[in-house]
Amino acid sequence: MKSYDVIVVGSGCGAIIAEEATAHGFKTALVDRGPVGGTCLNVGCIPSKMLIYPADRIVEIEEGRKLGIEAEVKDIDFGAIMTRMRRSRQKSRSNIRKGFKQAEGLDFYEGEGHFTGDYTLEVNGEKIKGKKVFIASGSRPLIPPIKGLDSVKYLTNESLLELKARLDSLLIIGGGYIAVEYGHFFAAMGTKVTILEMADRLVLPEEPEISELLKKALSRRMAVHTGAQAVEVKKKGDGVVVLVKDSKTGKEKSFSGQDVLVAVGRRSNADTLKVENSGVEVDKRGFIRVDHHLETTKKNIFAVGDANGQQMFTHVANREAVIVAHNAFHNASFEMDYSAAPHAIYSHPQIASVGLTEADAKKGHKILVGRAKYGDVAKGEAMMETEGVAKAVVEKETEKILGFHIIGPYAPVLIQEVVNAMASGGQGGQIDQGLHIHPALAELIPVTLGHLEEA
Ligand SMILES: Cc1cc2nc3c(=O)[nH]c(=O)nc-3n(C[C@H](O)[C@H](O)[C@H](O)COP(=O)(O)OP(=O)(O)OC[C@H]3O[C@@H](n4cnc5c(N)ncnc54)[C@H](O)[C@@H]3O)c2cc1C
Repeated sequence: MKSYDVIVVGSGCGAIIAEEATAHGFKTALVDRGPVGGTCLNVGCIPSKMLIYPADRIVEIEEGRKLGIEAEVKDIDFGAIMTRMRRSRQKSRSNIRKGFKQAEGLDFYEGEGHFTGDYTLEVNGEKIKGKKVFIASGSRPLIPPIKGLDSVKYLTNESLLELKARLDSLLIIGGGYIAVEYGHFFAAMGTKVTILEMADRLVLPEEPEISELLKKALSRRMAVHTGAQAVEVKKKGDGVVVLVKDSKTGKEKSFSGQDVLVAVGRRSNADTLKVENSGVEVDKRGFIRVDHHLETTKKNIFAVGDANGQQMFTHVANREAVIVAHNAFHNASFEMDYSAAPHAIYSHPQIASVGLTEADAKKGHKILVGRAKYGDVAKGEAMMETEGVAKAVVEKETEKILGFHIIGPYAPVLIQEVVNAMASGGQGGQIDQGLHIHPALAELIPVTLGHLEEA
């Protein structure tokens, strides 16, 4: 059996740890069943945003009408859009794989690994042991136990990337960020989209008013049904039928489409790794339990990124990887701070959010809430942006920003100054100190913070 100082499982954020380990001269093994680069590169952030960018342009052209521009999208080359995404992904994959193969001090094991005992894994029939093990094994689509689902060839965020031709119609089971991002993409491509969400609103972790505005905006371009629980899926000719139960009335209704996309959430890959064989515990959803230093229930085994299910975004996974690597290789004990961890949803309209929602903040703080519309700032008015809003959640006594939520154009760009302020103390006043260009959408942030009221 080969022994290592460090074993890393997973080459998404795990690549950061492997690189740090080799840079510090540790004998390192990196295990990945492929494709290398993890979810973000292969089936997550990057391919989805490559597809969504042209979708945004299409919708903007169509929305030009409100500004007095009569323009028409004459043709959409669906094949070309998909091919660009797949080619770019392939190029990145090959470069990363080449890098792993050539890296000094790194043994790259291309295969599915699983624990066979304490600190010991088996990959491709070979056993390896590590003094320190870093689990960065990520997550995969959660497939709910819906009657008949196995009998149809449903799509996931992974298989949809292989589509060669545009779909005429698509049913989407789920209403989280993956569902609404792909709902936006397919609707822009000309697909008749129907979203079926079991909860009473879309994008549940967001502020309720953001969910409501999103539903209103998406409903102009697709059918959106909330409180609609998919209970059965059947084949119908070349297509599918989804039987849905209304959560209020209990009545059943069926929806037909050419295909169905299952986007109800993610599950940890910890099961495929058989982490229990090394004394690593998982929670009741299957995500690996970690402490504040991201150490698992087994000493010197750490879990980062989606595998621990804390906040499942690439920038969070990467920061966790940096922290565990620093702690492990420098004998430090930094903790991950999630309080200013932002996220974005690239639907149309876009959404961005950081920190606590109003409801969560009220559980532990006396708060003030500020609200502003894009139309309250000159640039928003110029853009005729009548729907977008921002909301600030601030601690009353300290004026510390606890949360900030935006729905509207460039929301993921706009939120960054709030994230920076929150990460360096969090006073609303910090934002006001810097002059804001007039007119620019960034004025929305100080204006929102200037409208604070008792909540
Ligand atoms: C459709 C979609 C869109 C997304 N968009 C965004 C976005 O816009 N912004 C954002 O921040 N986040 C986004 N995310 C989330 C983001 O992709 C993940 O949070 C991130 O990739 C997690 O990184 P990770 O390193 O923890 O795991 P992963 O990147 O999933 O890496 C895990 C690696 O482990 C390997 N592996 C797993 N089990 C084993 C095993 N037993 N043996 C060997 N290897 C194994 C896998 O092959 C994989 O390479 C999106 C996700 C999806 C699905």
